Parts: sequence; structure tokens; C-alpha cells
Amino acid sequence: MDSIIVPAPAKINLALKIKGLRTDGFHEVELIMQSISLHDRIEIRKNKGGISIKTSDSSLPIDRANLAYRAAEEILAYANLSAGVDIYIEKNIPVAGGLAGGSTDAAAVLMGINKLFDLSLAEEVLQDLAAKLGSDVPFCLHGGTAFAYGRGEKIRQLPDIERLDLLIINPGIPISTPWAYAQYDRLGKESSIPVEKLLKHIETGQEISWQEGWANDLEEVVLEEYQELALIKERLKGLGVPFVLMSGSGSTVFAVLENQEQGERIRAAWPEKKDFIISAWTVKKDFPELW
Ligand code: ATP
Repeated sequence: MDSIIVPAPAKINLALKIKGLRTDGFHEVELIMQSISLHDRIEIRKNKGGISIKTSDSSLPIDRANLAYRAAEEILAYANLSAGVDIYIEKNIPVAGGLAGGSTDAAAVLMGINKLFDLSLAEEVLQDLAAKLGSDVPFCLHGGTAFAYGRGEKIRQLPDIERLDLLIINPGIPISTPWAYAQYDRLGKESSIPVEKLLKHIETGQEISWQEGWANDLEEVVLEEYQELALIKERLKGLGVPFVLMSGSGSTVFAVLENQEQGERIRAAWPEKKDFIISAWTVKKDFPELW
């Protein structure tokens, strides 16, 4: 096998709770993560040595600043391989949108190189390499539904939830993650998101009831500053969708739908033509339907 194509799905946060600021400058968080069908496609091809990146999105870096490049560097060095890889990233996930786009590309490169070169690296080794690259990368290795804690790099896999139909909307506003966390810190609030209860719902296989406190602690401060996002949320609620929440630190908002047709109707009539708006659904661990 000389090449492999690996799907790299985006994630949303069904819950994002901030527990406090740690001495190392990171925040202690509790996240309920969920992979969705919107995905990049990563093609990895063996070469005689060195790493090259090409991408369909010319705004992305193609050197070490690209997380996919660093993922390849880490795993090739760990496995002591003299061969290299040419990587092509078909970018479909909005960049800097709170959807873990860079992290999922990096995870796909780790998984892809592990397969392509028959490395059979132990799960703990892959997890360690992933954690070095960023807090969201360990989750992205297997995706599905998971509880992430610590700074987000510690993962407890959860049972797959029943498929949810979603609408994903990104107005293309760049929002700085450190800025969003700093605004939250300034509020000096204690989070009231009942994560333990939400986890029980998933672990016992109950249907999700959206009145139970599913929320994102960063949403209030971000929506206060970015009225366009608040407006998107209001508009969706007005259209009668069961649930709407911002993902990560924005600027993506997701709506949980009654069914896919509702999403198609909303998408067709959406007034802001410049917004990225796409139907999607939740996918299972290791995303079998995306290969
Ligand atoms: P998260 O949800 O993990 O906070 P995000 O979805 O908000 O991440 P990304 O799409 O990962 O953000 O992009 C953040 C930054 O990472 C961008 O400035 C981008 O240039 C850089 N970056 C590096 N590699 C990639 C990649 N493969 N895909 C997207 N962005 C990348």
C-alpha cells in the first residue's frame, strides 16, 4: 500500500464547562465531545523522505505551522522511519470555527501513518503523541461521543448516542479562544452546568432531553460581544429547532433538528448568503460511515 485516504471529522461540544484556571495557565475543563459527519479528507502518500503538505484551502499554512505536518513529524520520528509522506488536505471544515479542524487533521495523520506503514503502535503511544500536539487531538483519534477533562486531553469514551440531525452554521467571524476564556474569567462566575447528570444520561442510553442543562460556559461572553452570533441563535430558535448551542469558543453554532427536512428547509431559506451553513449528523466512534 503506497497511499491511504483518512476521514477527519469535525467535533461539536454538547457541553463545555470551565472549572477554573490552573497554575500552568490552562483551564481545567469538562467537555462532552461529539464527532459529526462534516469532515476533511486526508490523503497520505509514502515518499523517500521528508514531509510535504498540499491543501485545497490556500489560507492554511503548509509548513510546521500546520498541525498535520507536526503530527507526521512526531510519528515518523517516534517510529524511526527514514521514509516520508506527501499529505493532501481536502479542507471542508471551517477554519478557526471551534470545530477542532486542525486537531482532527492531526489525528487523521497519526492514524493514517500508523496504518500506511503497518506500525501497529499501542493505543497509549498514539494518545501520548496526540496529547503533545494539542488538547483536542486525543479525542479526535477515535471521536464518537466522549467525556474530555483535564485541559481536554484526558478522554473517557462514552457509548455512541442515537443519531442527531444537525445544522452547522458559521458566519466566518474569527474569535480568539484565549480572548473568550479571559472574558469568562473576568465574570468570576462558578459554572452551573450539571455535567455528572448529563454524563449519566448518555451512559444509561437515555434519549437526550435538551432541558437538562446542556450548555457552553463560553457562550454568554462570546454572544455578548458578537451580536451576529446572538442573532443566528435567535433566528434558529424562532424557527422552532429543539436546541441551539455555540461550539467551542465559536464562531460555529449548531442546531439540533427534528429531522433532516427541517434542516434543508432552514438552509434553503437562510437569509445570510455569506454564512457557511450545512446539514450534518452525529457519527459513531471510529466513524465507520465516513470511510
Ligand atoms: P478548536 O476547536 O480545537 O479550538 P478551531 O476549530 O477553532 O480549533 P482550527 O480550525 O483548528 O481551529 O484552526 C486554528 C488555527 O490553526 C488556524 O489559525 C489555522 O491556521 C491553524 N491550523 C494549523 N493547521 C491546521 C489545519 N490542518 N486545519 C485548520 N487549521 C489549521
